[in-house]
Amino acid sequence: MSAQQTIHVGGEWRAAANGATREILDPADAKPFALIAEGGAEDADAAIAAARRAFDQGPWPGTPVAERAALLRRVADLLVRDREEIGLLESRDAGKTLEEGRVDVDCVADAFRYFADLVIGEGAGRVVDAGSDDIHSVVVHEPIGVCSMITPWNYPLLQASWKIAPALAAGNTFVIKPSEITPLTTVALIELLVEAGLPEGVANIVTGPGHTVGARLADHPDVDLVSFTGGLASGTKVAQAAALGVKKVALELGGKNPNVVFADACATDEGFDTAVDQALNAAFIHSGQVCSAGGRLIVEESVRDRFVAELARRAEKIKLGRGTEDGVEVGPLVSKEQREKTEAYVASALAEGAALRCGGKRPEPSDARPAEGYFYEPTVLDQCHREMKVVREEVFGPVLTVETFRTEDEALALANDTEYGLAGAVWTTDSGRARRMARRMRHGTIWINDFHPYLPQAEWGGFGKSGVGRELGPAGLAEYREAKHVYENLAPAPVRWFKG
Ligand code: NAD
Repeated sequence: MSAQQTIHVGGEWRAAANGATREILDPADAKPFALIAEGGAEDADAAIAAARRAFDQGPWPGTPVAERAALLRRVADLLVRDREEIGLLESRDAGKTLEEGRVDVDCVADAFRYFADLVIGEGAGRVVDAGSDDIHSVVVHEPIGVCSMITPWNYPLLQASWKIAPALAAGNTFVIKPSEITPLTTVALIELLVEAGLPEGVANIVTGPGHTVGARLADHPDVDLVSFTGGLASGTKVAQAAALGVKKVALELGGKNPNVVFADACATDEGFDTAVDQALNAAFIHSGQVCSAGGRLIVEESVRDRFVAELARRAEKIKLGRGTEDGVEVGPLVSKEQREKTEAYVASALAEGAALRCGGKRPEPSDARPAEGYFYEPTVLDQCHREMKVVREEVFGPVLTVETFRTEDEALALANDTEYGLAGAVWTTDSGRARRMARRMRHGTIWINDFHPYLPQAEWGGFGKSGVGRELGPAGLAEYREAKHVYENLAPAPVRWFKG
């Protein structure tokens, strides 16, 4: 594959139909380090046609489950083989640390293995008791058809795998469009699928922008399902376009995730240290560019001053720099736009009365942090309240807001006061309170005395405007299937409804 041939259609790597290309920048120094094909609607049409043919006429949908699972496991093995190379690519493309890039590859391999195991463990359908020995009634699950997949830039490979692995396990064909600014590891994954032996036309990729390629993937009449991960604004457009064609839609959107800390969790030095450490991790890993980032700290008033002081002290020590540099803990923001957006949120918070405890600016340049890179210091904003824009909207940058409460009901009201509902955490040593909060918090994932872990076996997704549907777990496979009821009459006879 030459540099610009990043479009894969019907088993063939190609450049964009109109020859357009795009430079991919390293966010640590804003310098181009790869050149990709900038596809358009025409390329999307070709890819959808290839996926349609492969689904309607190709072998994949009818391939025995054991063979499909074996292919998924081969992909996992290839990912392990190429872990360093792909981890590095992800680090440079998305600006995350090399270690995070490696962990992402491990998680992607786990997702492929999980969905392989899940389909292998299934029976041949659910037999339904029709109330008669003469009726054999079974509900089977079949692939839905051609799937469009649209993914964001923060976890490019991981988000792609949460769609591709279940879609393939279920026997579908697909066209994926990664974010135009971080497409490289998704291209690499398609190469691995080809190497693993996936039949032609099953896996297709079109690199290109959202408003052309993405929009076509959402409204094309030959597409059966659109699975989108990204922001609320683009997700709404995708859902509207898909609704006009009555397509199934799965949306993984943003979050404004509360991290609720009760004073009892901080009663011992060890408890305090753990809660502060995890609050840092919740808010600042990958510069806060995480859909489930714990950017909203809701802390009991009696421990607020001590908690925030320690948080700010440690946030100031976070080592910012190029993700591939040894010892660096947090990389740059992904783009100029993302840093400007973060700066605007901090400015609005300060104008609305927030108190800056640390950060709030670009760091001094250094060898590890070129002046051209999109770095921004981890920022803690105290004295925040629920009416502030920075508390209500998703920042997607290294910004932590602090609100306080006095009672459990107040904590709960704050935690649920968001249009989103992706994830949230509660820190307490009182297990009754932990469970009460977990039951009443309106978010798709609740962590008790932890933040951020997910399991491929457990559904991931959001309440409210955080999305529609679930990824991972059995529900993440069900998204890619249609249920079909097969009712067989073993003793057919006239019904005589009509008497004539
Ligand atoms: P984005 O919405 O700008 O872009 C996401 C994808 O949609 C990109 O591939 C983009 O090209 C495409 N797109 C843009 N406009 C489109 C249109 N009109 N039609 C079709 N496709 C279009 O989001 P982003 O900035 O890349 O990613 C950040 C967002 O993703 C955040 O809101 C974050 O919370 C969300 N996210 C959610 C999850 C989750 O699991 N819920 C995971 C990761 C990221």
